[in-house]
Amino acid sequence: MNVFASHRLLIIDDDRELLELLIRHCARQGFDARGVSSLRDLGQQMTQFRPDAVLCDLAIDPDDAVQCLELLRDIGFAGPVFLMSGCESRVLRATFQIGGQLGLNMAESIAKPFDLAELTGCLRLHLKAELPLNEQALRAGIEQRQVIAHFQPQVDLASGRLLGAEALARWAHPNLGLVPPLRFIGMAEKSGLIAPMTLHILADAVRLIETWQSSLPDIRVSVNVTAPLLTDQGFVGEALRLIEAPKVRRAIKLEITESSAMDNSLEIEAALARLRIRGISLSLDDFGTGYSSLVALHRMPFTELKVDQSFVKELDRDGDAKVIVRALIDLAHNLGQKVCAEGVETAPALSFLRSLGCDAAQGFHIAKPLAPEDFDDWCGQILSRDDGSAFAFNEERRQAEAARSH
Ligand code: C2E
Ligand code: MG
Ligand code: MG
Repeated sequence: MNVFASHRLLIIDDDRELLELLIRHCARQGFDARGVSSLRDLGQQMTQFRPDAVLCDLAIDPDDAVQCLELLRDIGFAGPVFLMSGCESRVLRATFQIGGQLGLNMAESIAKPFDLAELTGCLRLHLKAELPLNEQALRAGIEQRQVIAHFQPQVDLASGRLLGAEALARWAHPNLGLVPPLRFIGMAEKSGLIAPMTLHILADAVRLIETWQSSLPDIRVSVNVTAPLLTDQGFVGEALRLIEAPKVRRAIKLEITESSAMDNSLEIEAALARLRIRGISLSLDDFGTGYSSLVALHRMPFTELKVDQSFVKELDRDGDAKVIVRALIDLAHNLGQKVCAEGVETAPALSFLRSLGCDAAQGFHIAKPLAPEDFDDWCGQILSRDDGSAFAFNEERRQAEAARSH
């Protein structure tokens, strides 16, 4: 069965030739695809065709994608929105972010020219991700321990040595496979399931620490915690009990997202201070994406700042991103905090961060999030090296792969 056949895709592009080509291609790939070449016809298509997803060009003469996004917001469209454009990447990114701020479900921005197979691959990925998930299924999934931690290594940028990992929740759904956290964290937060889920992830992190602490005495494993949970005394009590052993407590780091830390900030500030008094490391996640970054840094007792991947991913393309990342690293260091860059995808980004004195890095260029058994395997290989360097290990692997493919 083609699971996408029922997916209605509306394509908006004023280039009629391209529009026809995209409709034909998407239809061949099993989507129910239609197109409009101007915003005049958008409202009618939205009510009659009722698309599940929208793919929109930036320039839709005489209108543009920002107007389209506003219309979609006004209609209350909840499906994924894809943007495409041949404009400079900064314009595409800015428009994509506006969509997010309007409350739309922004899926992906795609630079033109693109490969048609790549486009449908990307649509598929997001539409599959839209298959329905509900609270009842999540509750059962958490009870049955289908929600588990995968671990993404974090390394010391100067030496390439392993510092530890970030625990990232994955839902091993019996029908959908591995469901990424952004699809269920929001639901978990709204339903209160976030507390038991986070405790399970914390327990997985504790197990990882216990496995590796003898060979890696300074290991640090981070767990993401949404700030409002810190004011839930039941949750905090359980969490402290799980990390009771002093060695474990020293090795745990809690990552709090900047945006969640700023809501209800007095209570959260107090909760963070109490955790620090108990010796727990605190990391400010996604730094630079919230509106009150500097206030958060000044008032809250974070030990580490994580530079958001939206800046790090742009380092190779965008001079502004370099300026921002340099400033963030200087700021954190001047405040006596460590800096971890996340979303490091390339060797040049890694070298640039190292040249700025950034302390730690995490990203696909080093390793993707790994299932616990794969993490153990990876970790074992790094620690068995004389130099203990993940960079040297990866480089040797890349060279071996290149030699094999020649
Ligand atoms: P985060 O805490 O900022 O985690 C980093 C995200 O970036 C992870 O996505 C990771 O897989 C991804 N990532 C890391 N390196 C790269 C890279 O080089 N390139 C790209 N493209 N992505 C990279 P993931 O696992 O999908 O998690 C998304 C977010 O979900 C996390 O962002 C975190 O905010 C939230 N989350 C994950 N697990 C938990 C959890 O247990 N509790 C809570 N409250 N939130 C969680
Ligand atoms: Mg995080
Ligand atoms: Mg982050």
